[in-house]
Formats: sequence, structure tokens, C-alpha cells
Amino acid sequence: MAIQQKLSLMIPGPTPVPEKVLQALSKHPIGHRSKEFQDLVESTSKNLQWLHQTQNDVLTITGSGTAAMEAGIINTLSKGDKVICGENGKFGERWVKVAKEFGLEVIKIDSAWGTPLNPEEFKKILEEDQKKEIKAVILTHSETSTGIINDLETISSYIREHKTALSIVDCVTSLGACNVPVDKWQLDIVASGSQKGYMIPPGLSFISMSQKAWEATEKSNLPKFYLNLKSYKKSLLSNSNPYTPAVNLIFALDESLKMMKEEGLESIFLRHKKHKLAMSNAAKALNLKLFANEKYLSPSITAIETGEIDAEEFRKTIKNKFDILLAGGQDHLKGKIFRVGHLGYVNDRDIITVISAISKTLLDLGKITTQQAGEAVVIASKYLEEN
Ligand SMILES: *Cc1c(COP(=O)(O)O)cnc(C)c1O
Repeated sequence: MAIQQKLSLMIPGPTPVPEKVLQALSKHPIGHRSKEFQDLVESTSKNLQWLHQTQNDVLTITGSGTAAMEAGIINTLSKGDKVICGENGKFGERWVKVAKEFGLEVIKIDSAWGTPLNPEEFKKILEEDQKKEIKAVILTHSETSTGIINDLETISSYIREHKTALSIVDCVTSLGACNVPVDKWQLDIVASGSQKGYMIPPGLSFISMSQKAWEATEKSNLPKFYLNLKSYKKSLLSNSNPYTPAVNLIFALDESLKMMKEEGLESIFLRHKKHKLAMSNAAKALNLKLFANEKYLSPSITAIETGEIDAEEFRKTIKNKFDILLAGGQDHLKGKIFRVGHLGYVNDRDIITVISAISKTLLDLGKITTQQAGEAVVIASKYLEEN
């Protein structure tokens, strides 16, 4: 039987949590209207702006990443508004559902799962919209279900040229993993969640709002109460919250943001890049096919095809033998791929360990030679050493 409490989370959220952050979580709560708590909110708000590379307001909501995306949509748009939704995976699909649920008119731009969205398609539709009827472009930066990263920089430049449309972007598995310069790219609304790159447990989500996004809130007529962002903005002026926040998660957030600042953005991005390269190249050395287009690999998750092997059985074996939790495929990909999360509090050792576990399992199945198993680790090490 496996030793207890040594689970290694290699899924795209919840991600591993550092000891310091766990300790912050276990503190006794304090009053959320106290000066002490206001100081904490002041600190986390400033550091959230640092992480987002923005002067915009970054609001903290109690809820998972979906709450932040929904908030972005319902605070800036009105019933019947025309929006473009980029869809090339499970999360893209979710934002189409949310948009339709709120009575928006959706123009879908899609591409096959595992391939990136084509920025030129956004350009074309935005350019053709002479009457400026398109009010927003909703899309996912890093599509966690497939391990693809979409070219947000180019797409957002086309959105800016349109002038009217807002960008509403799911950056849940890109923020804190790769460069998402909110001000430089002039992103209007950026959503993320605590259990991903932030290294804290699930329960908080974050939303960055540009001046243009705030202006749009004045016209929006979709129903909202708990997620009315104007209340959050007003409270933030006094470093407060409209409702009782998840006090202990804010303790944790303060610690994790300080850790991130200490590491520095460049180092964080480089670490994720190295892990992506180590993981994807090791997979290829093991004769496994990457599910996503190799030019657009997400920094935080690698999706790997298993061919004739049942990916669910494969995952189960790795969990039982090594206590490493991998993610499965979703929908039609269930049983066909597994996904390795390397997002947040992940170090080189975690990468080497998961590659070794995958190698050993393939070896036992007779799919690779001992030489290949060794080579995969050597190749991964090479990428881990680069800087
Ligand atoms: C995890 C995730 C979300 C948020 O999902 P929740 O379950 O609401 O936290 C949104 N988008 C992407 C791409 C994600 O990976």
C-alpha cells in the first residue's frame, strides 16, 4: 500500500500548494472589516497588478475561474449583443454556453481540438463589422483540455483595431505560467483562478478590468447581484469586499504572491517553458504522440496520446504505483489521451519523476526498450538544464 499523503498532483488544477501557503491557510480567521485585513487586501491587490502587468483594477471574487469569466460577460454586455467566441476545446465551449445562456448572439470561430484558433478569422469578421455590432470577443488563451495555447497577442491586436469590441479572455492556465502583459496587449477583461498558477487551493478567482471595460458596465443590462463588479470596485477603494471574502484564502494568496514576486516573472515563465519542453520532448522520446500542435504548446499542460493503450488504465496504473495524479481526456478524448499538468508549484524533480513513472509503465507494457526509457530522462534533463 502507498504511504499516505504523498500524492503528487500533476493535473491542471488543483495544483500543488507550498508549505508556507498551507500554513497561512491554517491560521485563525480575522474580521474582514478590520484594519489588519484591509492591509492584507491592499498588499494582495498591488501584487495582483504586478502579476497581471497592469495598472487596471484586479478584483478578487470568491468562486472558481468560471465565476470570473461569467462576471466579465454579465457586467459588460446586454441581452442580444453580438459576440465572437473562440472555441477549440472544452473551455472555449463553456464560454459559448455562458454567452448563449445570457441571451447573447454568438458568432463562433472554432478550430479542431488540438489546433490553435486562426487569428486571421478574427480579423476578417471584425473588419467586416462596419456597423460595430460586435461588442466582445470571448476566448481562452491556454486551452487546458487540449494543451494548446492560442495566439492571444495577435488576436488582441485585431480586437483593438475594431475599437468597439472588448476582449474577454480566459487566462486561467496562462497567467502566472507565461507572459500575459495585460497593459501592453491592452486586454480589457482577464480572468484567472486560484487553483492554477497561483499555487493556492481552489476558491478564489481574479478579474482584471480595463477603463474601457468599466465604461461598458454602465450600459450593461444583464442581471447580476453577487457578481456585480461595481460593488467590488467600490469596496476596493477602501481595500475591502462587498461580502464576506474567503479570509483564509486571502492569507494564502498574500503568501503565494510574495513567493511569486521573490521568484520574479521572468524566472516563473522560464521554469514553465523548461518544464513544457522537457515534458513534450520526453514524451516523443517514448514514442508517444503529442495531442496538440507542437508550435502552440501550452506552458502549463501537455496532452499526450496513448494510441492502443487505454489512457484511463494508464493513468490508473500511474496513480496506484507512483501516487502521481494525471488528468484524463475530456469528452471524445477520454481514454485516448492523458494530460500532465506542470503549472504553479512544480519543480524539476516533479518533471523527472513523472517522466520516469510514464517510462516505467510503458516499459512494463512492452511498448519501449530500457534504452528508450533512459533516453527520455536524459532528454528531459537536457531541457531542464537550459536557461
Ligand atoms: C480550470 C480552468 C478554468 C476554470 O474552471 P473552474 O473549474 O471554474 O475553476 C477556466 N478555464 C480554463 C482554461 C481552465 O483550465
